[in-house]
Amino acid sequence: MSESIQQRVLLAADYVSQDLTNQIDRLELQLKHKKAELDAIDGNLKVASQAATRRKAFVATEGNDYLCPRCWIQNRRKIALSFKYSPGPDDIIECDACGLSV
Ligand SMILES: [Zn+2]
Repeated sequence: MSESIQQRVLLAADYVSQDLTNQIDRLELQLKHKKAELDAIDGNLKVASQAATRRKAFVATEGNDYLCPRCWIQNRRKIALSFKYSPGPDDIIECDACGLSV
């Protein structure tokens, strides 16, 4: 067996090994981002799955306040809607927490 050919093969092995090793940091970062993306989708799916049940439990008023349906259905938070002056015929009713306008 030729010594120089063996050297070339071993050098190629070094190159292949180093090339792949150099990708570790990038691949680990890529995997971390994909896992975060999956966690976010999983969280959104849980919220979406509970939406119909939370809608049934939603009450529009508490005391003199009207409550934000989005904050309740998405986050189970009771946030009072605010009345804003509008030059038009109807008041603008908004949620200061999520921006929903009804
Ligand atoms: Zn809201």
